[in-house]
Amino acid sequence: MIRHAHLIGFGLAGALLMRQLQKRGVRVTVNDRVDPQSSSHVAAGMITPITGQRVKPTWRGQELQEFARRTYAELEHDLGISLWKDWSLVRVFRTDTMRTWFEQRRDTGELEQYSVEALDPGVHDGIEMPYGGFRHAGVATVQMPTLLSALRTKHVEMFVDEPDLSADVVVTCTGAAVLEDPRWSWLPIEPSKGEILDVRIEGDTCDYIRTNGTWILPCGDSIFRIGATHDWDDRDPRPTDAARTLLLSEASKMVAGDITVLDQRAALRPSTKYKRPLVGRHPVDIGHAVFTGLGTKGALQGPWASHQIAEHLVNGADLDPEIAITRWWNP
Ligand SMILES: Cc1cc2nc3c(=O)[nH]c(=O)nc-3n(C[C@H](O)[C@H](O)[C@H](O)COP(=O)(O)OP(=O)(O)OC[C@H]3O[C@@H](n4cnc5c(N)ncnc54)[C@H](O)[C@@H]3O)c2cc1C
Repeated sequence: MIRHAHLIGFGLAGALLMRQLQKRGVRVTVNDRVDPQSSSHVAAGMITPITGQRVKPTWRGQELQEFARRTYAELEHDLGISLWKDWSLVRVFRTDTMRTWFEQRRDTGELEQYSVEALDPGVHDGIEMPYGGFRHAGVATVQMPTLLSALRTKHVEMFVDEPDLSADVVVTCTGAAVLEDPRWSWLPIEPSKGEILDVRIEGDTCDYIRTNGTWILPCGDSIFRIGATHDWDDRDPRPTDAARTLLLSEASKMVAGDITVLDQRAALRPSTKYKRPLVGRHPVDIGHAVFTGLGTKGALQGPWASHQIAEHLVNGADLDPEIAITRWWNP
């Protein structure tokens, strides 16, 4: 049983874990280095149940999405804010192979719950689709910065300047920066730099998400967010001209109007090759634990993973072996 937990880092992981621990009666303190360009502040917060060139349903998508929806609904209710929005999404096939993957998965019923509608090669709503595409439901966005700022305001007394090492457990929730800490440098985090643009597209009234690998998310009044890049070599979190050029070039294939860039932001995601969260107590230094590895799927995986680690720390429940850090420990 723990009475007091200290969290280092207050991005999405820290925020969700704070909440789970509070619900279990644990006193929580937090220190955070307050980075407005952290991954959680830059993220679009999309939950997309079908991804990639292979048009594959995401890992445990349905279970995790139901969990996420319940968690964010509870937070919306308690904090009096709006976090969740449902969307439909139009995906443009980039190759014939992608279309074949789609048809196979649709025909075997793998995509059944997402109300997919195939789009033949041609032009749909002004979007050129040489290989066709498809529309589907079950997509959502979560306003991560709104959540972080509401929780910070509500629990201002929990924030302290330094880690409180007298706590029963200190949980590191520092995203990709976890690698800066020698205690955790053995974790298989491979930071991936992501960049996004906020833009105005004259005359564009599209009210669904479009993607050809690069996505365009409507934000109202002809303002859109375009993203995101993935770079595993560049660890400098500043925006680059190369990413801006790439995003504009891909997005322009899906819009008719002129695109004016209003803002560009970049951050390092706490990614892993295995696309699973990383949670658990340190195998030797058991007063310390970690919660990271949310990669590109924090909005979806964060709620379930924070529940897992809270149950583990407070009630001694076993962690799901796919996310337990012990599998990576090899001293
Ligand atoms: C361009 C881009 C687009 C994205 N789009 C999506 C998306 O559509 N959907 C989705 O689900 N995810 C998306 N993500 C990923 C998402 O941002 C992450 O999965 C998630 O936000 C990671 O949260 P985190 O709390 O682990 O890390 P972070 O958000 O990085 O938070 C870590 C916190 O720890 C603090 N910190 C770091 N070091 C220290 C220290 N030593 N001491 C104290 N504090 C410290 C930082 O200041 C920060 O506040 C995107 C990311 C990027 C970059």
